[in-house]
Amino acid sequence: MNQYDVTVIGSGPGGYVAAIRCAQLGFKTAIIEKYDTLGGTCLNVGCIPSKALLDSTEHFHNAGHTFKEHGIELSDLQINMNQLIDRKNGVVKANVDGIQFLMKKNKIDVIKGVGSFVDKNHISIVPREGGEAQQIETKNVIIATGSKPTVLPFIAQDKERIITSTEALNIREVPKHMIVIGGGVIGLEMASVYARLGAKVSVVEFMDSLIPTMDRGLGKELKRILGKIGIEFFLSHKVTGATRNGDTVTVTATNPKGEEVKFEGDYCLVAVGRVPYTAGLNLEAAGVQMEERGRIKVDEHLQTNVPGIYAIGDVIRGAMLAHKAEEEGVFVAERIAGQKPHVNYLLIPGVVYTWPEVAGVGYTEEQLKEQGRAYKTGSFPFRASGRARASMDLDGFVKVLADKETDEILGVHMIGPRIADLIAEAVTAMEFRASAEDVARMSHAHPTYAEAMKEACLAATENRAIHM
Ligand code: FAD
Repeated sequence: MNQYDVTVIGSGPGGYVAAIRCAQLGFKTAIIEKYDTLGGTCLNVGCIPSKALLDSTEHFHNAGHTFKEHGIELSDLQINMNQLIDRKNGVVKANVDGIQFLMKKNKIDVIKGVGSFVDKNHISIVPREGGEAQQIETKNVIIATGSKPTVLPFIAQDKERIITSTEALNIREVPKHMIVIGGGVIGLEMASVYARLGAKVSVVEFMDSLIPTMDRGLGKELKRILGKIGIEFFLSHKVTGATRNGDTVTVTATNPKGEEVKFEGDYCLVAVGRVPYTAGLNLEAAGVQMEERGRIKVDEHLQTNVPGIYAIGDVIRGAMLAHKAEEEGVFVAERIAGQKPHVNYLLIPGVVYTWPEVAGVGYTEEQLKEQGRAYKTGSFPFRASGRARASMDLDGFVKVLADKETDEILGVHMIGPRIADLIAEAVTAMEFRASAEDVARMSHAHPTYAEAMKEACLAATENRAIHM
């Protein structure tokens, strides 16, 4: 029987990063993945394919809308859905092949099949399509089995017309009318993809705001901007059912007045969140305890109630984000090696890859109010940025929240061009506990979108923004 220092179950961004860090630290490491390709949700049916489609459709949308103003005239603009999806598949393949290469480079044993506990130190692996099981022995286990889309019990998803994000990444036609249930990150990214392709898109959301976990100002601005590409929003609507009849889907909901409303379309995307995935792990055999909402219970060191068994990523509490899973993967590997690592959960940024992009880190204004903390704000709109004017990306703003007394930056919330990358500056500043004035006094290259961060910090310092 093969023996390992560490066995990782699941090869998503949590699992494969944990495996690489374990190998770097000198542990004999195995990684178990039930699917044929490595990379988990993120690389196969999440972050990467969705961004590939967002990039392609952004080009298409711009070609049809803003190119003319740049003096680029096109005739007979067409979308080739097969090429669009094939390119996306190529991007996914290049990424998952890259993970396979990294496993080899780091001498990590990759074992394909469903991993399940025999006991605390033994894992059995059965090929997904059936066949002979193999068993390995291990000193430590890192569970990184991720999540799957939430299913609404009153909606029968047939995965053809009533679909999850996984199927929404593979539609080889432009829908006539896509009804998206859920105005969170995944729902809005996919809504953007199909609206840019010319589909009518209706987003039906239970809450009274989009992306409700982010700073409220962002959801409001995003709704206004996405409305301009034709997406219709139905907030405070409680979906009560969705049925399919041939190629037609009907979604029923209760509107804020308590009346029943109906939406008819050809696709319904259910994007109401994700739930931790632990099926088939046989956690009972190792005595691993769960907590509410199907999550694996862990302590502050991400160890379960069983010494030597850890859990990371979407399968435990916290934001369901790839970079959060990655940080936890490194954290656990270093804990096993006896180091004292740290994850600053306050500084895990949240990003929405619509156009404009949306990003936030630290406390929201709502959280600061709830805490009763004295704070000041500084905002800068992209319409006052020379760089944004050059690229015609005038929507959005950067908002900085800083402590009223000390000027320490407490939160940064942005909506605008390329701010998925710009949020890294806010994370860096906050990790070093910068004040708004610290950032305001740093040189930012001109003309860049990043100047909006400097200007918002100037505004937060003493209302000293220069270009506003
Ligand atoms: P996963 O990536 O879910 O990986 C878990 C792996 O474990 C899977 O490969 C699964 O097959 C395997 N597994 C499960 N059980 C077993 C078993 N018993 N034996 C063997 N293998 C098993 N996050 C971002 O940060 N940025 C984004 O832009 C982003 N976009 C997204 C877009 C979409 C459409 C979706 C659905 C998600 C997106 N996410 C994004 C979320 C991100 O994908 C997840 O947070 C991330 O993948 C979680 O990583 P993980 O390692 O915990 O689990």
